[in-house]
Amino acid sequence: MRNKFLVILSIIMQFLAVGTAMAQNNKIKIPDIPGFYTLKGDFHMHTVFSDGHVWPTFRVNEALRDGMDVIAITEHMDYEGFPEEIERDYNKSYEIALEAASKKGLMVIRGVEISPRVPPYHHNAIFLEDANSFPMGYMENTHKQFVMKDSLTREQLMAPFLEAKKQDAFVSYNHPSFKWWDKKDTLLFTDFHHELLEKGILKGVEVVNSGRYNIIAHRMAMKYNLTLLCNTDEHYDMYPRYADTHRPMTLVFAKEKSIAGIKEAMEAKRTALYFGDYLVARKKEALALFNSSVSFNAVKQDRGGEPIVVVTIKNKSDLLFNIQIKSKFDIEEFPLGQLELGANEEKKLILKAVWKYPETTYLNITVGNFLVSPDEALNLDLELPILEE
Ligand SMILES: [Zn+2]
Ligand SMILES: [Zn+2]
Repeated sequence: MRNKFLVILSIIMQFLAVGTAMAQNNKIKIPDIPGFYTLKGDFHMHTVFSDGHVWPTFRVNEALRDGMDVIAITEHMDYEGFPEEIERDYNKSYEIALEAASKKGLMVIRGVEISPRVPPYHHNAIFLEDANSFPMGYMENTHKQFVMKDSLTREQLMAPFLEAKKQDAFVSYNHPSFKWWDKKDTLLFTDFHHELLEKGILKGVEVVNSGRYNIIAHRMAMKYNLTLLCNTDEHYDMYPRYADTHRPMTLVFAKEKSIAGIKEAMEAKRTALYFGDYLVARKKEALALFNSSVSFNAVKQDRGGEPIVVVTIKNKSDLLFNIQIKSKFDIEEFPLGQLELGANEEKKLILKAVWKYPETTYLNITVGNFLVSPDEALNLDLELPILEE
């Protein structure tokens, strides 16, 4: 009898443990910013309809588990992994995913990956009308192997990009400098890419792929004014790779929760990248996201005759921030004013030697894990009114 009770108890405990773990790993709380919804997206994923190893509904279930708002399925338009089992149809994976996602609050975007193994290399085209109409004249064999023609013309390589333009797609450069790419070309931004820019075709670049930050891509994004993207490019079950962290994602700041809203936001470059404990964004979005996540409040206090100011720092999000604070007053306890502000954490900072209370005080804040360029962390000046106790 007692044993049975213990067994039941341990089952309940396990269930609770799994529940807690899931609550921690999934449905990450990230606030909206003024005027925009913060939507969680992954715009690069594969299924068995190209070289992935899962069925499209699997991608939908993963995304629902992870609390995503939007995903794009982007099969290689020039490769079939299972031609005997699956008929070539690059709209099919999108259609299957869309049906599984409908009425579940997850948006699905139709896309393809244009994947030549010579410059311009891999690019995604998303927000498509038809994923099957992309010309692949540069391919010799697409069945379970990737064989390009011996002599390639620029026209053959350009043709799928012109099709993307015809469909008013959003085209982004995927994982620049991928393992087998020509490493002698350190820029990786060729005259082909310049032509894509001039034609208004190229709009984004994957700065983070499979959780890996790419400084070449980040520099490229800043130099050519491209939208920053962070995608999983997952081909298998996503879970083992991110068992100890959250799934990497692109945060899209959209005026409305719709496919059109997401497209408008991406074209306006309103994104932030969230991978591991790092964030990457342009200064404007970085500032808005930090200010929506973390609040500061300063109160004057008399600590046994010692005048101090207590600054309460509160994180309302599930994001982690490594902060360094500078003040003209001495900061108690935190060396160099450095502190880690975990998810939903509140910390109190004491400013001392405040011999004469001012009306307001200034803090200079550097957020070390929030990049606004490849060489620069988010930095802001904060004017805080000093309130009565
Ligand atoms: Zn692939
Ligand atoms: Zn690729």
